[in-house]
Amino acid sequence: MDHMIVMHDLRKSYKGKVAVDGVNIHVKEGEIYGFVGPNGAGKSTVMKMLLNLTRPDSGDITIWGKKMEEESSECLKRIGSIIESPYFYEKITGRQNLELHCEYMGFHNKERIDEVLQLVDLRDIEGKTVSHYSMGMKQRLAIARAILARPELLVLDEPINALDPEGIREMRTLFKRINQECGTTILISSHILSEVEQIADTIGIIQNGRLLQETAMSEIHKYQKDFIELEVEEASRAGCLLEEKLGIRDFKMITEDVIEIYDSAASVNEIATVLVREQVMFLGIGRKQKSLEDYFFHVITEDE
Ligand code: ADP
Repeated sequence: MDHMIVMHDLRKSYKGKVAVDGVNIHVKEGEIYGFVGPNGAGKSTVMKMLLNLTRPDSGDITIWGKKMEEESSECLKRIGSIIESPYFYEKITGRQNLELHCEYMGFHNKERIDEVLQLVDLRDIEGKTVSHYSMGMKQRLAIARAILARPELLVLDEPINALDPEGIREMRTLFKRINQECGTTILISSHILSEVEQIADTIGIIQNGRLLQETAMSEIHKYQKDFIELEVEEASRAGCLLEEKLGIRDFKMITEDVIEIYDSAASVNEIATVLVREQVMFLGIGRKQKSLEDYFFHVITEDE
């Protein structure tokens, strides 16, 4: 499959300290790609290299089949981004800020300002000066500015950092709208896994400058399927009973007293009944689902 963005073996060090260590990333046209990793993992550095704000020591980036290094101005025209905390003129309104940005970009289209203000839901308060905006409103204005020139790709570095839960929810809805209604491909970084989980089509997991995994969300959902967690005094004996009495074989001993049962036909009631009958003490039993955090730690521990 042809990818819209291909980053190949990207490397970058700052004063001898490795920040990005041989990263390969593949983003498909039209998707939301979640770039996930703890603070300091190298996400911003990768995004800055993608936007030609900093140069890789080695490796290359291809967007729309063009080498970023050779045709950066052509590529950058087609990209909108929010990389660091967005700066606005506080004493003028959101609309005036967007008008100034249009002037600066040489992009003159008043109707498009109306459109983006509508899209990010700032029409009602467009008369307010930015100094009276909440953090969430400023973030929406930043997104309005980033999509003004109808970019085909939107690069967002930690856009939900510092927002309250309501603001985060609004952002999530907004990103999905931009992706679906405008067909914009979105590359979004975050350390808040559960947020990316809800919107991304593909996830790239980065740690210590290395991309540990690049996976379709649909694959992760397979990992996230329901299971039964059983907490017992003697996991080994309980395991034998599961096999012998209930024919359950798809389970894993997690610790000496915890078993995870993945067999979708297994019933909590039946298991509990057998354990009681066989006098195996159990402390808890219930259905659970793996979160993206679990998946993330699973990937990280496999790598160690
Ligand atoms: P993330 O975005 O995942 O939090 P960054 O890409 O910002 O990670 O940082 C990766 C590593 O590179 C960190 O150790 C950070 O301290 C270092 N780093 C980033 N930018 C610079 C810089 N301009 N000068 C020196 N070190 C930097």
